[in-house]
Amino acid sequence: MTDLAVYAAHPNASRGRCHDEPGPQYRDEFQRDRDRIIHSGAFRRLEYKTQVFVNHEGDMFRTRLTHSMEVAQLARTVARVLGLNEDLTETISLAHDLGHTPFGHAGQDELNRCMRDFGGFEHNLQSLRVVDHLERRYLPFPGLNLTFESREGILKHCSRAKARELGEIGERFLQRRQPGLEAQLTDICDSIAYNNHDVDDGLRAGLINLDELDEVRVFRRHADVVREAWPKASTKNIGHEVIRRVINEQVSDLVTCSQRNLAELAPASIDEVRSANEPLIRFTDDVQEQHQELKRFLNERVYKHYRVRRMSNKAQRVVAQLFDAFFSDSALLPPHIRKRINKLADVDPHGGHARGVADYIAGMTDRFAIAEFERIYNPSELS
Ligand code: MG
Repeated sequence: MTDLAVYAAHPNASRGRCHDEPGPQYRDEFQRDRDRIIHSGAFRRLEYKTQVFVNHEGDMFRTRLTHSMEVAQLARTVARVLGLNEDLTETISLAHDLGHTPFGHAGQDELNRCMRDFGGFEHNLQSLRVVDHLERRYLPFPGLNLTFESREGILKHCSRAKARELGEIGERFLQRRQPGLEAQLTDICDSIAYNNHDVDDGLRAGLINLDELDEVRVFRRHADVVREAWPKASTKNIGHEVIRRVINEQVSDLVTCSQRNLAELAPASIDEVRSANEPLIRFTDDVQEQHQELKRFLNERVYKHYRVRRMSNKAQRVVAQLFDAFFSDSALLPPHIRKRINKLADVDPHGGHARGVADYIAGMTDRFAIAEFERIYNPSELS
């Protein structure tokens, strides 16, 4: 690792773990966090969770796993240039989507609806819940017992009401303070990754074509250059080259704008980063606007495309009906899940049972959710 800047997260200055444990022998604290994520069951399940396209629609589309790896790739590059902590950045990137339900946002929206009388469901909070409570791999403590800095990065958003319940990790939302720079960086790289790979996947699936993409100014600008330089290139190759250039432009803008912000404020510690009025890792206003334009395009042309909506509709039904079955009759649940839910219900008689069902469903891969749905609702399916 290159030298860390004074405003980077230093592993020896971590705010620590919830449960005390001896320091690692060969790694630093953030490397250990990263390794714990990679060894977790929730991380392996990302392979079979939908990003936008359901896993069985095709082998070439992004899954939550490959998405998380792309985020890590972008974020690590920038972290190294800015002198930030690359291991912490990688940890947050790989962990940021652990709490996602099966079937992408359609699944999360439906689970949130099912949980409306019990505190709702939000994937960021769930990611934190996975690393703090749900993973059971270590005898001395529940969860992965990650450092404060990794947990802070995982909890990107949080309502004030929830923040109050969360204690130390929720404080920044109440005090309106910024998270560390590694968390800021991962958040923005998440959006660079999904905006661009959703274009790529959208082209591959035939939901959009290059001509339509010309409506987005940044794509038009790069496409004109690429078409002129390679007039005989296939549409597919032009698409790839244009996306590569857009990513490059966004990353370069992120680096130079953030360098400028850091030079201007010259924070002498993470604490000064936290007290800044706005995030220091950000795009220039111009590129931010382009980025929003691309987001709007994707929203209209890809996420609302009838083929995506058909799949989302089915996904919502699967999630709603699984919740319905498990919530109304816990005898349908496997014994180890029932046991866990009973414990939650003992602590919280109002919402514990529903929360346990939500945890079970949120942890499912797309294909496991479909199989459970079949086992419960299809009379000819064996249990
Ligand atoms: Mg993400």
